[in-house]
Amino acid sequence: MSTSLSTDGQALALLERVWGYPAFRGVQAEIVRTVTEGGNALVLMPTGGGKSLCYQVPSLLRPGAGIVVSPLIALMKDQVDTLRQLGVRAAFLNSTLSAEGVREVESALLAHTLDLLYVAPERLLLPRTLDLLERAPVALFAIDEAHCVSQWGHDFRPEYGQLGVLPERFPHIPRLALTATADDRTRADIVRVLGLAGAPQFISSFDRPNIQYRVGPKEGPKTQLLDFIRTEHPGDAGIVYCLSRRSVEETAKWLSAQGVEAVAYHAGLSPRERNAAQERFLNEEGLVVAATVAFGMGIDKPNVRFVAHLDLPKSLEGYYQETGRAGRDGLPSTAWMVYGLSDVVNVRRMLAQSTAPEDVKRTEAAKLDALLTYCEAATCRRQMLLAYFGETLREPCGNCDACLNPPRVRDATREAQMALSAVVRTGNRFGAAHLTDVLLGRETEKVRAMGHHQLPTFGVGSAHDEKTWRGVLRQLVSLAYLSADEHQGLRATGKARALLKGEETLTLREEALMPKPARSSRER
Ligand code: ADP
Ligand code: ZN
Repeated sequence: MSTSLSTDGQALALLERVWGYPAFRGVQAEIVRTVTEGGNALVLMPTGGGKSLCYQVPSLLRPGAGIVVSPLIALMKDQVDTLRQLGVRAAFLNSTLSAEGVREVESALLAHTLDLLYVAPERLLLPRTLDLLERAPVALFAIDEAHCVSQWGHDFRPEYGQLGVLPERFPHIPRLALTATADDRTRADIVRVLGLAGAPQFISSFDRPNIQYRVGPKEGPKTQLLDFIRTEHPGDAGIVYCLSRRSVEETAKWLSAQGVEAVAYHAGLSPRERNAAQERFLNEEGLVVAATVAFGMGIDKPNVRFVAHLDLPKSLEGYYQETGRAGRDGLPSTAWMVYGLSDVVNVRRMLAQSTAPEDVKRTEAAKLDALLTYCEAATCRRQMLLAYFGETLREPCGNCDACLNPPRVRDATREAQMALSAVVRTGNRFGAAHLTDVLLGRETEKVRAMGHHQLPTFGVGSAHDEKTWRGVLRQLVSLAYLSADEHQGLRATGKARALLKGEETLTLREEALMPKPARSSRER
């Protein structure tokens, strides 16, 4: 008890003196105490949550240097530079150093003149480095991005799989594993590989209650975006994510022309232009940045009031990270996204065309499924998002589109069967536009040329309008009843069979099932 109190006091004093922060955030204090007093721990905290201090502070409080294992070689130099500016004696060991540079770092370590040493895993595993560490004063091992030990995730690194050498050779030096992504299986792998059985696990909530999540159908995205900004966030700082450089440029130009101050940011700009955009965003009050996902890493602007997606992110992890750049100050903010049938077809097609190894493709497909299921959901978005990260939110949140404006759902098994049979009867190769023509009974040139006006499916869907059918097709692609080929042609998947046979039912959002406004099916 008395040691804990003095540890806490020392930690706080150090935090104030070196970093100038008045207090620890959330569980940071408890983690710092555990590790400073020689214990192991596993830390699961969302990106931006403040993981670095959890090992930096104990490294300074304990004798010897804290050894930080990190796969992000590109970021090591920045991290070390930042620490040095604060007066912390930090260095790194990775493949970018010369032999001379390596020797300098090694002697500094042995001379007790280092507080923190960042090491790439492949460098750590070299016999030379392990021998060095046995002779050197080591305060702790921090294993950053610890989910890389697991084959289950997409980020598996073989060198991380060998970090079991740490508990074997250094059983008495505290180990701190840190990650922002770990479901139950990954967490179990981390505990097994790094020998953390029995160690406390500090799991922070991923919930960002001040962010309002909203996802809607794309119907003229630029106008929708402008409406959103004008009515809800006039004069606010925000980020608009687009997939391509071209749409980034167009969006920035268009917003500016409409009187919303906006700049573009993407990897095709020169470093100078990118820096200028970033500086303006950080320093000006109400600037909007239209950007590719290249923008945002390491940007710490507390009062970003909205993050908008005009294109689908890659995964729910990506979505969470990108939307997480809104509202760091805790004030109400909005995560806003629109997407449509062609977006869904495109992402499915890109995955189908990918030349990645099969197991990688399977993981990517599972991630895409999770993202699309989130998009199509009719229930609380936050509950789904948190469930994906292994967290249970007991009640619907009251601060997402589904909670604020519950979409009506209905049994759409019949409509789904019509759409699927149109796909199958036309040979599993036509795109959504043609399929819609067939369903609506439109005798276009292509329909006639293919003889599709003679199919029993021709015109069966005329009770609904075009938008409805695009919505149904989108949801069927999203929910993987349909897959897309390289020409955007749609094909029924194995999953579709049960639905076609009537062994399964399907509930869809009403938004996709508006009857034709002019003629209802009864009047015909
Ligand atoms: P993570 O590694 O979890 O993504 P970081 O360690 O980079 O997060 O921290 C994110 C931001 O929060 C940094 O700008 C950091 O300085 C700030 N931060 C972390 N802890 C505190 C604290 N106790 N007080 C003030 N700012 C903090
Ligand atoms: Zn909700």
